[in-house]
Amino acid sequence: MSEAAKAARMMIDGPRDGLRVPYDAAGVVVVDLQALGHNWQSLRDKVAPAECAAVVKGDCYGLGAAAGVPALCAAGAKTLFVATVQEARQVRGLAPDATIYVLDGLLPGTVEELLEVGALPVLSSLPEITEWGQAAPSRKEPRACAIHVDSGLNRLGLSAREIQELAHNMHLLDRLDVKLVMSHLACADEPDHPKNAQQLEVFHSLQPLLPSVPLSLAASDGLMLGPDYHFDLVRPGYALYGGQTHPERNCPVNPIVEVYSRVLQIRDLAPGQSVGYSATFVAERVTRLAVVAAGYADGAPRHMSAGSGERHGWVAFRGRLAPIVGRVSMDLITVDITDLEDVEINRGDWVEFVGPTISLEDAGTSAGTIGYEILTRLSPRFARVYLGGDVPANAAEG
Ligand SMILES: *Cc1c(COP(=O)(O)O)cnc(C)c1O
Repeated sequence: MSEAAKAARMMIDGPRDGLRVPYDAAGVVVVDLQALGHNWQSLRDKVAPAECAAVVKGDCYGLGAAAGVPALCAAGAKTLFVATVQEARQVRGLAPDATIYVLDGLLPGTVEELLEVGALPVLSSLPEITEWGQAAPSRKEPRACAIHVDSGLNRLGLSAREIQELAHNMHLLDRLDVKLVMSHLACADEPDHPKNAQQLEVFHSLQPLLPSVPLSLAASDGLMLGPDYHFDLVRPGYALYGGQTHPERNCPVNPIVEVYSRVLQIRDLAPGQSVGYSATFVAERVTRLAVVAAGYADGAPRHMSAGSGERHGWVAFRGRLAPIVGRVSMDLITVDITDLEDVEINRGDWVEFVGPTISLEDAGTSAGTIGYEILTRLSPRFARVYLGGDVPANAAEG
């Protein structure tokens, strides 16, 4: 029997129709690679004639770069952004022809590594610009890079003072082949925030001081602010993975990820009995609990914990919501299913954390965080199950 056939025999029916998952997985992250490709194409069409890059940092926001990067490249993405040089190395192996930018820029001493990988640092300070320029053998062989300017986020990027200094010492750029000048917005998730227009204006005002090369300002939320914000290249990440930060959910993308775990045990509590560490939840009525195989080591934030009288995290059984009660522990959560009498719930059943009933945004809100953090914290203990793409053999190990 082939390895593939063996693996297929070890698959069982999953959390929804037609979905097969490994028989021994206590939790699964289901990623629709075809929908990922469609999301990229939909954003590409929205921002044309600007180029649509793909941000694949954080292991494609926790979903698995080994599967996500080939799917994005197959859909047409040619420019990829990662955070670190190590991520660049992995992504280079998956996308031999892509332009890869490293958002963290030039970590001291990593010039050789970046050159070997063929990744371009996004330089954010004069010391980085100097170090990268010194790495070029001559003016005739300049080193390719991007330059990040700060327009008000005050995170990475050249400050106004550094940009002035650079403008007076243009020779610092002699050995650089600047491919892109970029900046990043602070409040793009609030379309009416005055900071958006302010940063746009600052970005425009800096252009005369900088090399005239392609420009980039917008990420997922920024591209929804309209064509004024698109410039030559947009850098969406979260939206590619189905994220919708705007309350109106107006970004033209679809969910691509679902997260499920399994029921280990059902147990009944008498009034007065407590649940979990520190006994934060005390049953006020006869209570039926489902003990579920997901904890903070899997990526279920401990902030989903809820003591008596509190409501934080939710999960869903066959489309019906049920609250998490007691502390989220490393490997387990406890869910109050008393009000789901009419839903049949058994040992081994699937429990939804993110999916048709609970959106990524709602999962984030119920854990006191954002969907981005829910995605990027999903641990390797949950099996990745990929749909609708050519998944390289090593991707499923994620
Ligand atoms: C992470 C990041 C992005 C992508 O942001 P999303 O909100 O996920 O689209 C774009 N640009 C920079 C500088 C980033 O750090």
